[in-house]
Amino acid sequence: MKALQYRTIGAAPELVTVPDPEPGPGQVLLKVSAAGVCHSDIAVMSWPADGFPYRLPLTLGHEGAGTVAALGDGVTGLSVGDAVAVYGPWGCGMCRPCAEGKENYCLRATELGIFPPGLGAPGAIAEYMLVDDSQHLEPLDGLDPVRTVPLTDAGLTPYHAVKRSLPKLVPGSTAVVIGAGGLGHVAVQLLRAVSPARVIAMDVADDKLELARTVGAHEAVLSDEHAAARVRDLTGGRGATAVFDFVGAPATTTTAAGCVAMEGDVTIVGIAGGSLPVGLGTVPFEVTVTAPYWGSRGELREVLDLARAGAVEVHVETFAMDEAPLAYERLHAGKINGRAMILPNAS
Ligand code: NAD
Ligand code: ZN
Ligand code: ZN
Repeated sequence: MKALQYRTIGAAPELVTVPDPEPGPGQVLLKVSAAGVCHSDIAVMSWPADGFPYRLPLTLGHEGAGTVAALGDGVTGLSVGDAVAVYGPWGCGMCRPCAEGKENYCLRATELGIFPPGLGAPGAIAEYMLVDDSQHLEPLDGLDPVRTVPLTDAGLTPYHAVKRSLPKLVPGSTAVVIGAGGLGHVAVQLLRAVSPARVIAMDVADDKLELARTVGAHEAVLSDEHAAARVRDLTGGRGATAVFDFVGAPATTTTAAGCVAMEGDVTIVGIAGGSLPVGLGTVPFEVTVTAPYWGSRGELREVLDLARAGAVEVHVETFAMDEAPLAYERLHAGKINGRAMILPNAS
């Protein structure tokens, strides 16, 4: 089968032919309908060889959906042909966080060598993928796979972040979304769906600001050194109740600190080297700063239910398998609006 692999440190991903995988005991083989292209993959491919955490070659893609093609020995509760989405942050299923559905915070994944697909285990940008446990699968139940796949990360990660801040996002509050890309344009919609907050989106690109407005942002502001002051103006000097930073660069974490209100939340989701020192005088009084990772299985189900209710619609650009390297090039160049999706089995 064809697969898109990261093979050499620092090189671009390559389209290669690899043996068709076969499901072992307990595993499920999916024929992949669609796989998402996340900016985290670009970060991974920029890491140096020294300390690189995954074995190469690595089949990319940590957002995937497909139809069940074959079941390994002992798998019950699924049938060949079922349409499913993959919950990506695989855990041991046994530790306390896993028992609570928070496999993203599994205590034993590292020790047991459990990696998410595309981030250690073979990923979804391939004609077929192996899923190690049927528990990692969520039925699509009629949802369109292409528009649903990004919800497994570009939806789930912001949903988890937004949910933490919901008690503060009361009427009259303001939420800032920095970076209206794959995750950010879904975050805007999630905020509109689950909170009464006024939503201010920020980006460096006009087309992304336009997309943010289209999907429900009340304001869209250029992300530059004046952005924090603009948010203060727009909030009568008070600042934003919650700031979600989907860039996470030094410039954006500085903006976040500059526009968050006292007792507000700053959530750093992006992984572009930014951080925020916390101490009296570095951020307004009683600000909470956090950097979460992905989301729980239960939250994925909630995001899919929001999609079923029509509350979120991911803006997608689709690519055939042969164009998968191009999708990464375009994302790297900032030229994807919404989420790039690879369709490995499209004819
Ligand atoms: P993306 O490329 O689709 O979107 C990034 C957006 O940020 C783009 O619209 C871009 O124009 C904008 N941007 C760039 N510089 C900016 C700046 N200075 N100010 C404002 N906007 C700016 O990326 P994505 O796939 O949505 O991922 C976003 C970030 O989240 C990445 O760093 C990714 O690695 C990270 N991520 C983290 C988690 C997690 O669990 N913590 C999960 C998924 C992705
Ligand atoms: Zn991701
Ligand atoms: Zn666990």
